Amino acid sequence: MAKDTRRLFELFETSPVLVAAYDGFDRLHYANAAFRSAYFITPDEMPLWPDLMRRNFHAQRGTVIRAGDFEEWLRSTQSRRGKVGFRSFETDLFDGRWLWMTETVEKDGWMLCVATDVTGLKAKTRTVRQDRDLAIKASYTDELTGVANRRFVTARIEDMLQRNEQSSPGCLCVLDIDRFKSINDQFGHQTGDAILRDFAMRIHRLVRRTDCFGRVGGEEFVLTLPATPVEQARLILERMLASVRRSRPLQERPDFGYTFSAGIAGAHPGDTAISLYARADRALYMAKLAGRDRIHLDEPDPDRSAVAG
Ligand code: GH3
Ligand code: MG
Ligand code: MG
Repeated sequence: MAKDTRRLFELFETSPVLVAAYDGFDRLHYANAAFRSAYFITPDEMPLWPDLMRRNFHAQRGTVIRAGDFEEWLRSTQSRRGKVGFRSFETDLFDGRWLWMTETVEKDGWMLCVATDVTGLKAKTRTVRQDRDLAIKASYTDELTGVANRRFVTARIEDMLQRNEQSSPGCLCVLDIDRFKSINDQFGHQTGDAILRDFAMRIHRLVRRTDCFGRVGGEEFVLTLPATPVEQARLILERMLASVRRSRPLQERPDFGYTFSAGIAGAHPGDTAISLYARADRALYMAKLAGRDRIHLDEPDPDRSAVAG
């Protein structure tokens, strides 16, 4: 078996097919020669995917990124990357090649990428396929903030409930900016929008690849944390709250800061997206009631624990 595995890796090294594997944190653990050469990676390197994309973008090599603002492109791409079991898309390289890229994601977050050169194939209909990909991307992205929209994040809640693991079921968090109406009233709607973008950017930076963060309405956001115990979810949200508290997003008002409140609910057996959301929302309401700028955990139903215990 070990010999076969070694032979397999030798075959990968000489194959023109691009093969790579990333862990759940999106760190590259393996890339064959074809992949390393396409994306300018040395054999001993293990870069994080966003760092790899960033450095290639600035050096104008690797993937062609048709966006003026790299960080905005990264945010919207990361909001969807590695969150579904399988996806495939066409992508082009600065060297003129077109690749058909597939991404297969395991439950633990590891991702296998396999790409083949399709430069010579169906070039005439390529723009149609690219337009279709752009339309799909737009249909899953919140236009104002670049993070996932309600449609995408709702589907991820359903996914989480479907593969609800017994040992450590997932959590749903609802995040809502505090007294946002008065921020709008005080500074105007455009500044309000800028604060929404600041909020999305700060939270996005702390979201793991297997989690999904999306905007579901005005100043209300949702975070799915699959296979995560509530206590860990609380730590993650506390970190997010600390980051938002530190933010001073207005140049003209360097003393201005803002906060948010959040409710967390752990998935129970038999939960639906609606029942889970309702409990997270109730927890959010409790956080608001208790004074805002805090996180509230949905308490397990005492009757339910009495039966269970
Ligand atoms: P609370 O702390 O209880 O959450 O108070 P709040 O003022 O944040 O909550 P409320 O729901 O009363 O107000 C939300 C405000 O968000 C009202 C609405 O004008 C504003 N809003 C909704 N969507 C947008 C948007 O896209 N941009 C901007 N700038 N404001 C928005
Ligand atoms: Mg609010
Ligand atoms: Mg609200």
